[in-house]
Amino acid sequence: MGKVVERKKLTWFQELYLPQVVQGLGMTFKQMFKKEITLQYPEERQQFYDDYRGAPGLVKDQEGREKCVSCQLCEYICPPKAIVIKPGEIGGPDNVAETEVNENVEKAPKEFFIDMLRCIYCGYCEEVCPEEAIFMTSMYELNGQTRAELVHDKDRLYEIGGTRVDTIQKWKGK
Ligand code: SF4
Ligand code: SF4
Repeated sequence: MGKVVERKKLTWFQELYLPQVVQGLGMTFKQMFKKEITLQYPEERQQFYDDYRGAPGLVKDQEGREKCVSCQLCEYICPPKAIVIKPGEIGGPDNVAETEVNENVEKAPKEFFIDMLRCIYCGYCEEVCPEEAIFMTSMYELNGQTRAELVHDKDRLYEIGGTRVDTIQKWKGK
């Protein structure tokens, strides 16, 4: 048999309930005269800390080179299996075109998908990436009319991630 917990008897003052009502109203009035408690969304937006984990995005360097080399480590580590990558060969048939900025690289993703209905924003993909090619961004507004719209493809991921300056550029020279 479970333990019987004795209910504490209320004092006559507590049974009035009025002090609690007045206390609650006091809190409401206090907030009413505070400035800037409501954001005029979407013109005003919440400021986030640098390490806020919003939607993940892929990045290019300052010369427009795709930093991802389709090693698939992030796909392997992703707990809910939200990432699907089809690796591509740079300069290979039907794959990523070779340009001046990626001539020393062998691979880039031919296709890269992140299913945002599965993503749990854990940040493991960013942690594991050896190329600093995928980052958690501050983007939190995700919506769509269909489930398919919430599966971000490569173009959408680069749109979200944008450009990050790479000070090392290890692939630039041989
Ligand atoms: S944040 Fe986590 S769940 Fe989302 S894609 Fe990256 S590894 Fe997967
Ligand atoms: S984003 Fe990084 S970890 Fe993922 S496939 Fe590209 S290089 Fe590898």
